[in-house]
Amino acid sequence: MYQTGMREECGVFGVYNHSDAANMTFYGLHALQHRGQDACGIMAGEGGSYDIHKGPGLVHQVFRDDILQTLTGSIAIGHVRYSITGGSHFHNIQPFIFNFQKKTFGLCHNGNIVNYEQLKEKLEQKGTIFHSDSDSELIAHMMSKDVYESPIDALKRSLVQIVGAFAFIILLNDELYAIRDRNGLRPLSIGRLEDSFIVASETSALDAVGASFVRDVRPGEIVRIDTSGLHSFSYTEETRSELCTMEYIYFARPDSDLGDMNVHDFRKRTGKKLALEHPASADIVMGIPDSSISAAIGFAEQSGIPYEVGLIKNKYIGRTFIEPSKHLRDRAVLLKLAAIRKVVRGKRVVLIDDSIVRGTTLKHITHLLKEAGTKEIHIRIASPQITHPCFYGVDISTTKELVMASTTKEELMEYYQVQSLEFISLEKLRECSFDQGLCTGCFTGNYVTDIFNRDAKEQ
Ligand code: AMP
Repeated sequence: MYQTGMREECGVFGVYNHSDAANMTFYGLHALQHRGQDACGIMAGEGGSYDIHKGPGLVHQVFRDDILQTLTGSIAIGHVRYSITGGSHFHNIQPFIFNFQKKTFGLCHNGNIVNYEQLKEKLEQKGTIFHSDSDSELIAHMMSKDVYESPIDALKRSLVQIVGAFAFIILLNDELYAIRDRNGLRPLSIGRLEDSFIVASETSALDAVGASFVRDVRPGEIVRIDTSGLHSFSYTEETRSELCTMEYIYFARPDSDLGDMNVHDFRKRTGKKLALEHPASADIVMGIPDSSISAAIGFAEQSGIPYEVGLIKNKYIGRTFIEPSKHLRDRAVLLKLAAIRKVVRGKRVVLIDDSIVRGTTLKHITHLLKEAGTKEIHIRIASPQITHPCFYGVDISTTKELVMASTTKEELMEYYQVQSLEFISLEKLRECSFDQGLCTGCFTGNYVTDIFNRDAKEQ
């Protein structure tokens, strides 16, 4: 696969001015675990002295009590990682820590930089020698001039050159920096807990540590958090609000608010629109747990068809047990889900799923439901057809992985052996966001930035 540098779906969390900063970060990362289950890390300290611990695995596996106790200090940043390329090699696990001019600074990121190759080449032409292909090294080189003396200038100078999706939390000079890309593709929110500030990918992580929501970091904004509070800087005037639609549809937790919208509410609206756009004659409505439940409730409310729990998910199977190969992914679906025969037997079912990516999950689920005696299956999908890859960090990175890029709806219906299959239209999906800006590149192929070497990356 084409190496694009940063390519991550992740969660980031930071704490400023709390006596138990590492512990808070532990709980914050726990609340963001759905954003990445491959690896995690926490860096904590104060007074220019920081310690870090990171490793592969879930938050509670990597951080035992005795380890957390070694992470002292009132400032901390943390990260949960879902690896797309590069695997869980230790050097890919964040936070990244830089030792420069006898000082240390740390960085966590969520997103994907699309001009990584170009930025690297530019620095090499000026004589910079790279030791690795890592994004952290690129960013460190970009920021190195004046990074301690004039961090805002160093950040502005670097950020304005970076194209793509990013939410950064940077720990530098005992100050915390929270930064979003100019299109606001990845979420980042600020909260407050008494005299402490919290920064998190999702508001659900603020709730988890008892912090109250202050505001989102704005597209193109650098927020510096220091002893006198929050300070806002902008590194570009060219900003737009175009949060990733898949954050709403699948990725974020239903109890999170993204922009001004609650994720559960958004998903429920997609279900209602689906019921109006593509009604079905059926006895029950079911959602595939967990991410499709809200849309299924919306469909049931709008259509008047009763909502039922026909599929049960085993909560104790995490992604960490699952190698990302096709064979094991296929098995994983069966280990994860079971049908309640008594509910589905002899029934005409509306089956709601949030999205179709590779198309394999629904093959297994429709098979499962038929074996359990379901009479008819009407699939309704709460997102439009995903026909293009995501270059901004969602794990749909090549066209050939996407079943809807090469298959018609009718062919897929035939493959699943179901009575009907319909997707919400892009127009109706947009209505669900009350016309708030959204990145819809994976449905349309129109991306909010230049992609750089798009053809090579799409393969
Ligand atoms: P499949 O069509 O077999 O690839 O599975 C689609 C299901 O995976 C959807 O219903 C979502 O619940 C989930 N999903 C959607 N987007 C992603 C993603 N980027 N990474 C992992 N799972 C996803």
